[in-house]
Amino acid sequence: MIEGRITKGIGGFYYVETSGGLYECKARGIFRKDKITPLVGDMVEIEVVDEKEKKGVIEAIRDRKNELIRPSIANVDMAVIVFAAKSPDPNLSLIDRFIVLAEREFLDIVICINKIDADEEKDYMKIKSIYESCGYKVVLTSTKKRIGIEELRDQMSGNVVVLAGPSGVGKSSLLNTIDQRLELKTGEISEKLGRGKHTTRHAELMDFGDGTMIADTPGFSSLSLNHIDEKELKEYFVEFEDYTDECRFHSDCIHENEPSCAVKNAVDDGKLFKERYDSYIQLLNEIRNNNRRSRR
Ligand code: GDP
Ligand code: ZN
Repeated sequence: MIEGRITKGIGGFYYVETSGGLYECKARGIFRKDKITPLVGDMVEIEVVDEKEKKGVIEAIRDRKNELIRPSIANVDMAVIVFAAKSPDPNLSLIDRFIVLAEREFLDIVICINKIDADEEKDYMKIKSIYESCGYKVVLTSTKKRIGIEELRDQMSGNVVVLAGPSGVGKSSLLNTIDQRLELKTGEISEKLGRGKHTTRHAELMDFGDGTMIADTPGFSSLSLNHIDEKELKEYFVEFEDYTDECRFHSDCIHENEPSCAVKNAVDDGKLFKERYDSYIQLLNEIRNNNRRSRR
């Protein structure tokens, strides 16, 4: 029995990367009975049935650390949330939405601001300080000028990573610059999202060496927060945590209209960024309005 990770699944076959190479595997029938489907990203035990042809059978699936729905990948460690300094201009509310979804899956979060060559005013420095104040690593990159590429690579090293972020910000350009062998067509990742098409593409993990695996489809294709409870949202704005204990209603406070709310006071005192607080309130209202609509 040898151990490996599923990197791809096509037509009932699973491709398992092991220290002894890549094996094409079938899943044991027992999984069907137990209603378990192997997922890309799964750590599995395989029985080799033909060493020369590199064929095997998946005998066991290890417990999953987590499971993303779109893309459908197990055991993801990290989300790299990619935005552009310019064209398209950064949208903080959208960044926060990606962060909420990534926090909810317990992913490590790295924020990458790409195309810094296109913003001579360096407006992105404000964004950098906002997210660093929340405790996130922020990497500034330019694929055009080859800035920050090594740093981004180091951040991802040894992790299973999904790149997230709107289309056009340079996700495929970044992957190409990190690993020239890939030669992804620029714009390809976004096309793979298959907007308007009904072909569901299966996710695949690309091996970048040193144990770094990156999903070839962007994380969080659906950005809806409707599955999140309005009382739960505040947990994903991690910088609020330092203040929650001082709120009069402690952990019950949603930091909106409650009296003696330490989070609101910290915003007023400039200890927390207003941009983040405003976007929290905006997302809170969005979740609430949606819940109301669905109750009707
Ligand atoms: P994706 O949709 O996120 O995968 O974005 P792409 O990699 O397809 O890039 C979208 C556009 O942005 C392309 O025209 C790229 O040439 C351009 N682009 C990517 N990186 C940079 C960069 O660092 N600076 C500038 N100025 N343009 C970039
Ligand atoms: Zn509060």
